[in-house]
Amino acid sequence: MPYVVTDECILCGACVVGCESNAITEGDTQAHIDVALCVECGTCERNCPSEAIIFVEESEYEASQKEKTAE
Ligand code: SF4
Ligand code: SF4
Repeated sequence: MPYVVTDECILCGACVVGCESNAITEGDTQAHIDVALCVECGTCERNCPSEAIIFVEESEYEASQKEKTAE
C-alpha cells in the first residue's frame, strides 16, 4: 500500500527534507517516492502543501505503473 506523488506536486522539497528514510527524490516535474525505502510513516503526506502525496491501494498503484510503462 504505497504512498505516491501526484501531478499536484510543485517541487517545494518539503517531503524530501522531511522523509527520515530518504525515500523521496526530486524529479524534473515532481517528487518521487521509492517504495522500497518508504516505511509508510505518513510524514510526507502531512507536510505536503499541495496535498500531492496520497496513499493508494496496491492494485491502484500497479495500475498506475502499468499506465506509465504504456506511455
Ligand atoms: S511515508 Fe514516510 S517514509 Fe514514506 S516517503 Fe513519506 S515521509 Fe518517507
Ligand atoms: S511536499 Fe508535496 S509539493 Fe512539495 S515536493 Fe513533496 S510532493 Fe511535491
